[in-house]
Amino acid sequence: MAFSLNKSATAFKEAKQYIPGGVNSPVRSFRGVGGTPPFIAKASGSRVYDIDGNEYIDYVGSWGPMILGHAHPEVTAELREAIERGTSYGAPTLIETELARLITEVVPSIELVRFVNSGTEATMSVLRLARAYTKRNKIVKFAGCYHGHHDSLLVKAGSGATTLGVPDSPGVPEAIASNTLTVDYNDAEGLSHLFAKQGEEIAAVIIEPVPGNMGLVLPKPGYLEKVRAITEHYGALLIFDEVMSGFRVAFGGAQEVYNISPDLTCLGKVIGGGLPVGAYGGRKDIMELIAPAGPVYQAGTLSGNPLAMTAGLATLRLLAHTDGFYEKITANTSALCAGMRAKAKECGFNFRFHQAGSLFGLFFNEQAVYDYNSAKRSDVTAFNIYFHAMLEQGIYFAPSQFEAAFMSGAHTQEDIEATIAASGNAFKKVAE
Ligand code: PLP
Repeated sequence: MAFSLNKSATAFKEAKQYIPGGVNSPVRSFRGVGGTPPFIAKASGSRVYDIDGNEYIDYVGSWGPMILGHAHPEVTAELREAIERGTSYGAPTLIETELARLITEVVPSIELVRFVNSGTEATMSVLRLARAYTKRNKIVKFAGCYHGHHDSLLVKAGSGATTLGVPDSPGVPEAIASNTLTVDYNDAEGLSHLFAKQGEEIAAVIIEPVPGNMGLVLPKPGYLEKVRAITEHYGALLIFDEVMSGFRVAFGGAQEVYNISPDLTCLGKVIGGGLPVGAYGGRKDIMELIAPAGPVYQAGTLSGNPLAMTAGLATLRLLAHTDGFYEKITANTSALCAGMRAKAKECGFNFRFHQAGSLFGLFFNEQAVYDYNSAKRSDVTAFNIYFHAMLEQGIYFAPSQFEAAFMSGAHTQEDIEATIAASGNAFKKVAE
């Protein structure tokens, strides 16, 4: 049967009558690649299924959380039991402490942790805390890094903002944006110069240690160490935004891989097991400023929600107790990247493949990619041809050159082989 998205096209049209652009998060609209986004009916393991009856091998994984694959039976069973006990109480529960304890055990730089409902909430709240602690106002971020959609950090942001070519959003007051300074990722000298000029005013540097929102970019050897040294020297806090990389590039996140201890860390995605969760945590002396322990206000009706905590805890426990989980998922990701690279080469392309654990990315770019500007020099037209050719063959990658891809523990050797074979066909189309 020929590939068809007819039902999704009708559904998309109807959704646009009630929801801006028909979606609740911009990149889902396929604006960057054109065409109709498949409306998803269900997901299981490595697969998602759309309302037209198409089945896809999924490398989006809900943009990161589904590291165990979709509808993992044990996570689902625990959620079923939890739902019977009520969906929200707005009062303390044992499970919040359990999840918090597990996180502090796995990520040693986190001594205390506060749960919120999204990555955006985590990075928004952590900036208030950093400003209160240092009594300074300015924040440094890196071009192409994305930390969510709140005002202070929607400046030179990656992810959807890059895809849509909207670097800064209307509605962000200049007065707020002017407190956010930006430098290029992987440019330690640039950061050093900025601190030499304004170091006394800078409360914190927030960084995706392994940026996954301008495509997947890797830190140059020694770069993160320099960022740590510079912040320490000037008394600014170092915030690792590990919403994507946490429990993903390794169990202990990028800070484990690169052996760097940030002052504060933001988490999300995997720690919610597919339910809405974010968290921020770090040094006890800083975290104790948060209300009610201290004066920095931050709250949430649904924060620490029992269903979200259940899914998160079930996920992290499975990750902890499955022997060799990270070794296997990393090896599978390497095998997939190697196979795809070979297929690209057969078609004469020497494209850039990047990998960090089970996170990977392909730049349609034959030059080195190490920051936002070099990422932007990728061939978006070629990516779009590739993307649609893959979708039609039942392989679901993120609909943007500037997003990372996610392997799950549910992906099989057959999935990987099918993806490599489909890539061969798709690269041929690009070469035509
Ligand atoms: N930080 C990073 C590194 C992210 O990748 C994202 C989302 O993709 C966020 C923060 C924002 O998280 P959320 O979409 O849950 O608000």
